[in-house]
Amino acid sequence: MPDSSLRAARPVGSVDEAVDVLREGGGRATSARRAILDVLFATTDPLSTEQIAQRAVPVQDVPSTYRNLEHLETVGLVRHVHFGHGPGLYELVADQERWYALCESCGSVSAFSPDDLDAMATMIDERIGYRIRFAHFPLVGLCRDCRGDDRPAG
Ligand SMILES: [Zn+2]
Ligand SMILES: [Zn+2]
Repeated sequence: MPDSSLRAARPVGSVDEAVDVLREGGGRATSARRAILDVLFATTDPLSTEQIAQRAVPVQDVPSTYRNLEHLETVGLVRHVHFGHGPGLYELVADQERWYALCESCGSVSAFSPDDLDAMATMIDERIGYRIRFAHFPLVGLCRDCRGDDRPAG
């Protein structure tokens, strides 16, 4: 699935603000959608559809949770990231995009700011004409623990 966060993101600070965005988009702020938003506001970790369905109060079924997440994504409130070969994990859209790095040996994930890679982003764009982005798919490499190295390279 293409990354809908390439469309207009609508970061919000509360479930009430999210409800306004939903209504603006002509969608309904159903209790199921609010319950999903409550789950996402309670964490900064991207969550699977199953985790969200399970944590929602009351617990939701997975297929309707998936459809509701897709709707929340369409209106710009929610986005998803894939770690490894896994399915999309969902998180709230933030003011500043969160990028991820994934260790392909131990599977650990860390979040970082796009600003951290500014210089590299410019260089890659100049040399190969791509604008890098590690929000939908993470940067993949080996973490310091797996390299047996505790200091940054270079
Ligand atoms: Zn995707
Ligand atoms: Zn590792």
